[in-house]
Amino acid sequence: MTVKAFGAHAGDKPLEPMDINRRSVGPHDVGIEIAFCGVCHSDIHQVRSEWAGTLYPCVPGHEIVGRVSSVGAHVSGHKVGDLVGVGCIVDSCKRCDDCSDGLENYCDHMVGTYNGPTPDAPGHTLGGYSQQIVVHERYVLRVSHPEGQLAAVAPLLCAGITTYSPLKHWNVGPGHKVGVVGIGGLGHMGIKLAHAMGAHVVAFTTSESKREAATALGAHEVVVSRNADEMAAHAKSLDFILNTVAAPHDLDAFFALLKRDGTMTLVGAPATPHPSPEVFSLIMKRRSLAGSMIGGIPETQEMMDFCAKHGIVADIELIRADGINEAYERMLKGDVKYRFVIDSASLAA
Ligand code: NAP
Ligand code: ZN
Repeated sequence: MTVKAFGAHAGDKPLEPMDINRRSVGPHDVGIEIAFCGVCHSDIHQVRSEWAGTLYPCVPGHEIVGRVSSVGAHVSGHKVGDLVGVGCIVDSCKRCDDCSDGLENYCDHMVGTYNGPTPDAPGHTLGGYSQQIVVHERYVLRVSHPEGQLAAVAPLLCAGITTYSPLKHWNVGPGHKVGVVGIGGLGHMGIKLAHAMGAHVVAFTTSESKREAATALGAHEVVVSRNADEMAAHAKSLDFILNTVAAPHDLDAFFALLKRDGTMTLVGAPATPHPSPEVFSLIMKRRSLAGSMIGGIPETQEMMDFCAKHGIVADIELIRADGINEAYERMLKGDVKYRFVIDSASLAA
């Protein structure tokens, strides 16, 4: 089946309309009519070939929500008409220890929603900046938020789980002082989630203009990280830092804010390395540097249900698909509050 999409033919070319093929729905597949798709900074890294190995044509998009339009004969968990989501994963080996543990995100054969290997034409997966998608039932999430919130639910599928998973893994909760660095798509979800988990949340931003907004998102304190005095006021006080920044920067300034045994987890994935760390800032207080990638499918469902229960959605700006190139430029300037979401209906026009 041919559907309309938006994608790029090369890393130095803007995204443009294109027709793509979707496979027919197999016995374990769910066919989804996409309603909205969030715009993640990873889409920019990938489509512009900032990370290695981008395949073209590249149709990004891994924050997908929509309605089930068809199901294969063996699908039991989803039915036609259901509201569902698809995040960053559309397949994995389903047999290894990681898959058995529900951590498909760490499977060596995880297939990304775009740019991953597939027998379907054109030989790599094509993402959610499109009208429809066909996905194995295991990787389809149930949406229980009210339908009116659907566009703002889309970013939970990547920005939500990528921040929820490390916050849970490092046991963030009441009595913890937690820093969230970078208030973009991921960071604003990190603030909302850490707040809902009961932590004392300190937001770190390079943008003076986000100071008030960060408080409205749920930060108890806000620090403009360019201001050394404001940073020093939090020295050796944080239990955990979630760093979402999409560009290389000095990590040592943040290690200095961790308590003894504190951890900073990187989820931001810049194209070039950070200029640090200085090992003494780690060894002197037994501090840890860690990384985390999205989250597994069961945990993604747990996060979706947690957000529905706590009334958490993303703060979004809805755009037409043909506004995507301008949206990318604004994201690179940090000018987004806090996630662009494509209205898939605009692909038909
Ligand atoms: P985003 O919306 O563009 O937000 C990134 C934020 O980082 C900006 O809003 C800005 O916040 C801060 N920043 C500071 N200096 C920057 C600079 N020079 N360039 C860009 N940003 C700068 O991006 P996102 O969608 O949240 O993604 C953040 C990073 O996480 C990306 O590298 C993305 O690829 C990665 N990611 C990783 C995973 C994973 O599984 N680990 C999953 C999804 C995305 P302030 O204005 O507050 O300083
Ligand atoms: Zn993403």
